[in-house]
Order: sequence, then structure tokens, then C-alpha cells
Amino acid sequence: MGVDKITGKAQNITAKISAHYVDNARNLPWRVPPELSAAGRLPEPYHVWLSEVMLQQTTVAAVIAYFQKFTKRWPTVADLAKADEADVLAAWAGLGYYARARNLHKCARYVCNNLSGIFPSEEKELLKLPGIGAYTAAAIAAIAFGQRAVVVDANIERLVARLFAIDTPLPKGKADIRIAMDALTPDARTPRDSAGDFAQACMDIGASICSAKAPKCEICPVQAHCAAYAKGDQERYPVKPPKKAKPLRKGRFFWIEQDEKLLLVTRPAKGMLGSMRALPDDGWAAGKDGHGQPPLDGNWQLHENVVQHSFTHFSLEVDLAVYQTEKIVINKGDNRKAEPGPQLDDAIWWPVNGIEDAGLPTLFAKAVDWAVKRKLKE
Ligand code: SF4
Repeated sequence: MGVDKITGKAQNITAKISAHYVDNARNLPWRVPPELSAAGRLPEPYHVWLSEVMLQQTTVAAVIAYFQKFTKRWPTVADLAKADEADVLAAWAGLGYYARARNLHKCARYVCNNLSGIFPSEEKELLKLPGIGAYTAAAIAAIAFGQRAVVVDANIERLVARLFAIDTPLPKGKADIRIAMDALTPDARTPRDSAGDFAQACMDIGASICSAKAPKCEICPVQAHCAAYAKGDQERYPVKPPKKAKPLRKGRFFWIEQDEKLLLVTRPAKGMLGSMRALPDDGWAAGKDGHGQPPLDGNWQLHENVVQHSFTHFSLEVDLAVYQTEKIVINKGDNRKAEPGPQLDDAIWWPVNGIEDAGLPTLFAKAVDWAVKRKLKE
């Protein structure tokens, strides 16, 4: 569809989406509701930034509890900047994509050390901060500062692709979707018509009505303007490129337990799940299987394929090897067999009863859960 056609129908769509938001906005802890934004109130930039980083590749339902936990423990960006990285990573455990947590902490420190604790309001300045890409910069500028910025997340991408039946497959089609969203985004700086509320209105419709499967077109406020609906082919949009099969990797975790305490290591700072607490493993990575070698000599009982986990670019099948030898003494230098992979030099003993407080990434938490349920040492 040409830009002229998009612009021609944009005004009607914008007005209907904005009006729908007034009565149907989702009540989310980082938001200012539409009646207050109409009175000129903007949300805390710290809250908008934190929620947007958490929402990257994570659902609203999963993020709410983490947002509340973080803002209770670290009420301001200055509090977060002062926190230990290990505490931030542990509090993030379960949300996945841990590079986000490291960048979140780096960004908080940058804002406090270089910008007097104040987030910049312009997209181009926001883009200079650690962990902030084009989408997040636009969302913060629009929602927290009332700037006119074109915000396109996955929900908006789907909604806009359907409204205009954009046929170009992703990722190329993103350019057309952005042009269409630009045409839809209001110019007005009045809070009721702001780009921020409009973006949130589109996110809400994308999440609750224009869902990926079985969209609820019968209650959609812009059904009359929707090209995909008119064609009866809503789920075709956004058009995706053919799927590539994910490679399958094999890895092994090592369960070393003594006196109801489990041996945990800290993963290397660089690489997958970097700096996170974890079970020792055999050095699996996105590009290769693990070597299978245990970190200690002794008797091991192997349980095959106890966890299957899907990462963005590969899937992983995990075996769990359980140490059967009693009287374990772990001194510095005991571990010289498992190369590469986390070493046992900085290992700690963690009570099995209380392992949920260790802040293990989901992949490792799944393996622990599997083992605890089976009481492996009994
Ligand atoms: Fe989405 Fe259906 Fe609304 Fe079109 S009519 S925007 S497909 S919910």
C-alpha cells in the first residue's frame, strides 16, 4: 500500500484507537492512567525505562511481579545504580535474556554517574545509553516525556501490518510498518492525544484484541478500517519469512550434593548467562555440544535428557550427572578436568532447601526442580 493511501485512512484510525484507550486502557503499575495523562501527568522515566527493558521479549503478565519486586527493592535509579550486579542478576532470575539485566545495571550507573540521575528526554540521547535500542528509546521518549516518537513493538507491528495488509515479509516489511505507524502517530502535544498514550493504546489493542491467533475482530474499534479483516485473512499478517530449523545442542549439568547442600558455581562473565549462579556444566554453548566430562573424579549416575530448553537461536537437551561419592572435599585446584566451562575454584555450597533464593536462570532451575522432585540422593 502506498504512503498516500496510508495517510488518507490514518486519521480515522488514530481517533478511534485514542478514544478506545480512554475507557479500555490496561491498568499496569508503570503507567499513568488516561484520565491523569489527560490532566498533563507523565509517568516516572525510571518506571517506564525499567518496564520497557523487562518487556523486551517477555509478556506483561510475567513482568508485573518483577517490576514490583525491583521498584520495592530499588525505588529509584540511584538505588539500582548502587546495587551489586550479582543482586540485580539474582533478582532478574527467571525473566531470561540476562544481558538485559547486566545492561540495566550498567545503564543505571551511567545515568547516575554521567547524567546526574536524570534520563534524557530525546530519542537520540536515549539511544546512547547501554541496552537501549530504537524501540526502547522511542517508547521512553513518547511515554515518559510526551515527545512525538514512532513506537513499534511486536503488538503494534501485528496491528499495523493487519490494518494496512502489508504484504512485504519481515524483516523487510518493518520499514513499511514504521511508515504506517508514523502516519498514525498523532502530532498533537496535548496529553490526551500524545504519541505516548497512542502507542500504549495500540499496544493494548495488539495484546488484547488483535492477538496473533484468533483476533477478536468483532470487538475491535478499527475493524471498519482493517484491510486484513476485509480480506478475511487476518492471521497472514505480519507476513513472516520461512522458519529456519533451530540447531539442537547437548549439554550436561553436574549435581554435587553434601549434607543437603548443593555445589553452585558462578558462570564466566562473558558468554551465555554470564555471571549467573548455576550448576557446574560441561561447557555447552550456542555453537557446540558440551564435552561431557565431569569436574571431579568419582562415581557419577547419569540421567539423560532431563531438561529441554529453547533459546532464541538453538535448542538444548540437558543430561544431569549426579555425584555418588561421599566425603567431597573441594579445594582450589581440585577441578582440572572440565575445560572449558565453569571451574569449581569459586564454588559455594547452597542449601537445597532454599535453592529458590539462589537466583538460578530458568534452565538450571528446571534441572534442580527435576532433581528435587525425584530426591536423587535417597
Ligand atoms: Fe486486528 Fe481484527 Fe482489528 Fe483487524 S479487525 S485490527 S485483524 S482485531
